Amino acid sequence: EPRITVIGAGLAGSEAALAAARLGVRVDLFEMRPQKMTPAHRTGGFAELVCSNSLGGEGETNAKGLLQAEMLSVGSAVMRSAHAARLPAGGALAVDREAFSAGVTAEVRANPLITVHGEEVTAVPEGIVVLATGPLTSDALAEDLKRFTGGEHLAFYDAAAPVIAYESINMDIAYRKGRYDQSDDYINCPFTREQYEAWYAAVAEARSHTPHDWEKLEFFEGCMPIEEIARRGIDTPRFGPMKPRGLRDPRTDKEPYAVVQLRQEDPEGRMWSLVGFQTGLKWGDQKTIVQLIPGLENAEIVRYGVMHRNTYLNAPTVLENTLRMRADGRLLVAGVLAGTEGYLESAATGWLAGTNAARLALGQEAVTPPEDSMLGGLVRYLASANPKGYQPMNTNWALVPGVEVPGRKKLGKREKRPLMYARGLEAFRGWAAGLGVALQPLPEKPLE
Ligand code: FAD
Repeated sequence: EPRITVIGAGLAGSEAALAAARLGVRVDLFEMRPQKMTPAHRTGGFAELVCSNSLGGEGETNAKGLLQAEMLSVGSAVMRSAHAARLPAGGALAVDREAFSAGVTAEVRANPLITVHGEEVTAVPEGIVVLATGPLTSDALAEDLKRFTGGEHLAFYDAAAPVIAYESINMDIAYRKGRYDQSDDYINCPFTREQYEAWYAAVAEARSHTPHDWEKLEFFEGCMPIEEIARRGIDTPRFGPMKPRGLRDPRTDKEPYAVVQLRQEDPEGRMWSLVGFQTGLKWGDQKTIVQLIPGLENAEIVRYGVMHRNTYLNAPTVLENTLRMRADGRLLVAGVLAGTEGYLESAATGWLAGTNAARLALGQEAVTPPEDSMLGGLVRYLASANPKGYQPMNTNWALVPGVEVPGRKKLGKREKRPLMYARGLEAFRGWAAGLGVALQPLPEKPLE
């Protein structure tokens, strides 16, 4: 009889178990709470939301809106419970967290194909397994997981720098160049002395009103937050991550006073991260200090920097775009452990991992959604992003290809996004229908 194991009944694991059961496969689902709690969870309920109660903005101009619609299409339990427990929140899908968790828990417990085991898993079991133990994976399991991933591909906290959409970078100011004679892989943002001093003052100001929880963490020199580097003195960043040596600006033919470098994050070059700019500053402050960097005055930040405890794999090294592990294809990974970020992203990758685990148990091949869909874009990113300093990724429009309309020069965001939404949703629904998934109807017009 086809059977799989799912470890963790959070956002990803709950969805994975139900997706597998929908395909007629038996599931052993292990969840250690409430016997053993994590530092962030407070209840024994499944799919507990540990922080905000929002699953993101809705509608056809929203990248999360597209992923929500894809998940509604395939009957996601997380999306259905979210709609049943929704609270008024402008354009966002916010929920009553107790009612939401209770809805998911009841659905999982009522499913005759799912057996819930209330215990911690301390070693990766035999058979087909979905690992969905999240950012606070217990220590024993994390330790055992290294057998499959290698210790160097499992991270225990985030030290993430902001990521910028390429199309928002002003290339009239920024320039491509590698340091000294290296190839032109980097984008460089040059500062004059005045610009640098203005930037430094803004960092000092921002730092003064950010809580310093993360300072309790011990940092390796290589991933100290930029605000901490700046605290050591006005010239410290300029001799550290912002050093201009070997980066002569072709427009002035001089070395700038300081330089911020950006490194490509995806194979298509739609996303670029600020090198050495990991930060725990509040998001509003991050935007301010990023937009004070010459060339980034209109920067669109597709992922903000964070500094906090987090367990996740170096996805591009370890995973395929079906969420199977490269080193051992009977193991699938979902949620934050798989290198995503966010409740909705966790549930969506849970659905795919559960579906693929069940397909493998049934002797079918693992699948991946089309690249125009948001879930397809996200899992492709996981499998193909730059592995150097990999940081978890959340939903954003740069994960899917842009659109062009013949005869039109450049489309604005408000014109482009509904086209990308319609294209992605159609591709996803067509793909899911082809797998034999019973497609669910969507709300008539996506909510704005
Ligand atoms: P989880 O939902 O955490 O599920 C993992 C489950 O596995 C847990 O129930 C855990 O008890 C269980 N488990 C762990 N180890 C074992 C084991 N060895 N055996 C059995 N069970 C085990 N995202 C947002 O979108 N918005 C936010 O506001 C937000 N805030 C966050 C705040 C914090 C402090 C953290 C750490 C993360 C936050 N995230 C947020 C990121 C992420 O979306 C959530 O953590 C999300 O719950 C991740 O889903 P998951 O399924 O990967 O993990």
